[in-house]
Amino acid sequence: MKGMLRPVGSRVPIPHTGTKLHLPWENNYHTWYMGSGTQALAAAVALAISRSNLDGATPEVILPAYGCPDLIAAVMSQGARPVLVDLLPDCPFMDTEKVSQALSDATVAVIAVGFLGVPERVSLLASICRDRGAWLIEDSAQCFPPDCAREPVADCAVLSFGRGKPINLMGGGALLVRGDHNATAEDLLLSLPEGEVKVDWQWKARRHIFNFLLGRLGYGLLRRIPFLGLGTTVYRPLDSIRRIRLPAGLVEAGIAGAEQRPASVTTYGQELEFLAQCGWKLFMSNKASGGNGAGQVTLRYGVLAPHREVRDKAIEALNHQGIGANAFYGRILPDIDGVPGVLVSSSDRYPNANTFADRLITLPSHEDVTVHDILGIAATLRAVGTEPDAPKKPTQGPA
Ligand SMILES: *Cc1c(COP(=O)(O)O)cnc(C)c1O
Repeated sequence: MKGMLRPVGSRVPIPHTGTKLHLPWENNYHTWYMGSGTQALAAAVALAISRSNLDGATPEVILPAYGCPDLIAAVMSQGARPVLVDLLPDCPFMDTEKVSQALSDATVAVIAVGFLGVPERVSLLASICRDRGAWLIEDSAQCFPPDCAREPVADCAVLSFGRGKPINLMGGGALLVRGDHNATAEDLLLSLPEGEVKVDWQWKARRHIFNFLLGRLGYGLLRRIPFLGLGTTVYRPLDSIRRIRLPAGLVEAGIAGAEQRPASVTTYGQELEFLAQCGWKLFMSNKASGGNGAGQVTLRYGVLAPHREVRDKAIEALNHQGIGANAFYGRILPDIDGVPGVLVSSSDRYPNANTFADRLITLPSHEDVTVHDILGIAATLRAVGTEPDAPKKPTQGPA
């Protein structure tokens, strides 16, 4: 049976023993481990609401129109209203002019969502927030380290330790609360229930199974099981938040694994450069993204095809070749299955997010991707992506 190079995800590490945990942000942020990244984000929204003074108005939280449906779940779980903002053209960042327009007296926070390993422009967004007294929450579920480890600009930041994230601990997340907010945040956060993650034999068995399923053979088997719905994006509401106690050695091993992971961005950038001449957009190349900083994990390598038909054809050809390429979320947030109808589903309103969703292909960039894989991917995209548009069917028949 033919295997498949998984689209995303790194191996679950073996916990370190007898070490002193050092977190890159520890001088400026207090770390609260939470049940998941979504729960950490919900807690961040709860903190932003708790310090606002809205006189009964529904709090609003601003986020990008293309993104992870968990963003909506986290915001709505706290009784807040998600306010979507369109992206800049051909780019995963929010249009800051639209962010300014979306701000209202009820805005409690703006979520700066890092995409595939590239952080949002946190400082720029924070300066917009500061004028209006809103919080800037950095969602770094897809990025490691978070931008706040570089500079303590965000009021709080969120990490995820779920599968398919830069640090895979088989679940969990973290809420980083900036030092000046922690005293007031403590009341709310300490009131949440707390669970414990034990590294016992069951945990170890799960780790082995997980890691097997990440291999080409394991993943090839896994994707044949249709009811798992692997790779499909659906909305799941969030009903509760809890804190967890994570063994320090596990977190440390996760961070060490992320920091040592080889970067394939440069190879991808070089091998796929030719696509830029054929209407493709390499938005993650070092030049285009303003530098995917050294030591930054790339979750997947994203490129934009000229249009949807080419994108779909390219994914099909790559999958056929055993490469787990995919469209990622596939549609803008209001159009994702199960997302509550409170969001306006209008591609006119979010034209850039909509074209982004139509054109995006994500390519694997985890530790098992070889240069040979990337050369194969480049050859396939050359065949699919540079072929001249299919000749249009003659429209005028004999008169
Ligand atoms: C995955 C993800 C989350 C949620 O993290 P979980 O740990 O899966 O709950 C939040 N935001 C973004 C951008 C994500 O990619």
